[in-house]
Amino acid sequence: MKKSSFFEESWIVVGEVIDDVWHGRLFSHRQGKPAEVDVSWRAVLSREERFGDVIGFLHTHPSGLLRPSARDERTMEAWCSCFGKPLLCGITAGKETEGFIFSADGFVPAKKTALFPTGRGRPRPTLIAFGMALK
Ligand SMILES: [Zn+2]
Repeated sequence: MKKSSFFEESWIVVGEVIDDVWHGRLFSHRQGKPAEVDVSWRAVLSREERFGDVIGFLHTHPSGLLRPSARDERTMEAWCSCFGKPLLCGITAGKETEGFIFSADGFVPAKKTALFPTGRGRPRPTLIAFGMALK
């Protein structure tokens, strides 16, 4: 992953959620101009239909803001209602990554979020977050 760039990047996060621990791998990398890069709807839906393991998304904010934009909120709420489950929205700016747990009722920041690069047996970057969705 580039440290910073003009381009915004996004990934689908696949994995599992056990006892409020979100453990995912980054999948389906895309990049484009800020606010234009979107995850592939087709890739997300086909992954969820086949494996049911989409737990969220990660994208970069070249602006440096570590919180969901109004557009991110609308998009995440649409995905949550589409899948009928809470989803993790990871945002990376520079070296920092924060997670936000969305549900149909809004979102809360994850208590702890960490992004691990590939290596040491990890063929894909790994995103781990701890937190519970609003009920
Ligand atoms: Zn965003």
